[in-house]
Amino acid sequence: METSVHDQIKRMVEIQKLDGEIYDLRKEMGEKPKLIDKLKGEFEATKAKLNGLEEKAKSIVVSRKEFELELQSKEDVIAKANADLNQLKTNKEYSAKISEIESLKADKSQVEEKILRSYDAADAVNADIEKEKAEVAEREKVYLSKKKEIEDEVRVLDDRVKVLDSQRSEIAPHIDPQILKQYEKLLEVKEGRAIVPVNGLACGGCYMNAMPQTVNQIKMRQELIRCEYCARFLYLEDDL
Ligand SMILES: [Zn+2]
Repeated sequence: METSVHDQIKRMVEIQKLDGEIYDLRKEMGEKPKLIDKLKGEFEATKAKLNGLEEKAKSIVVSRKEFELELQSKEDVIAKANADLNQLKTNKEYSAKISEIESLKADKSQVEEKILRSYDAADAVNADIEKEKAEVAEREKVYLSKKKEIEDEVRVLDDRVKVLDSQRSEIAPHIDPQILKQYEKLLEVKEGRAIVPVNGLACGGCYMNAMPQTVNQIKMRQELIRCEYCARFLYLEDDL
């Protein structure tokens, strides 16, 4: 293994071209599940609307059953009142019963009206449900196709990372293990940029000005120099 400082810098710059891309790709991949979750949330919201309509349809049926029971009991009362008519002795009793029956019939027709209105309400809700089902189906199609698109993108990114990883594994053995360890640690905390060029005096990572003496030290190639502000390894582009 060549271990000159200059060689180590060259290797690090070389490996970081791969690592920088790997870092960016992994970051991009990390964003994808959030994107899918967001689309899923939007789709679930459409389904929630449909569920609400279905609940409404169910409750219309439940209250109609109650009206029908009420109607039945009113009919029973009317039938009993009609039967009572035959038992009555006087005209007065008879006409009182008749007017009671009329009033019962009026009550009954109100319940019948409620039942009819309940059918109308059910028709309206069912029409909305059909519309909403079509909407949900359409949105599901869009959601699933976008989801697949994103998953395909992730696969492409992942394949690229694998290629870069394998290229990286050919360079890594040429870097001193101790230096590689430091480099990798920095890579993690410095968003994929562990070794940066000095431009003029400015650190290419944090843009702070290095001391002229620091630049001279880099030129001397006797040791690896790190930025005193951000700790990244420094090199001179002209020097490669
Ligand atoms: Zn810096």
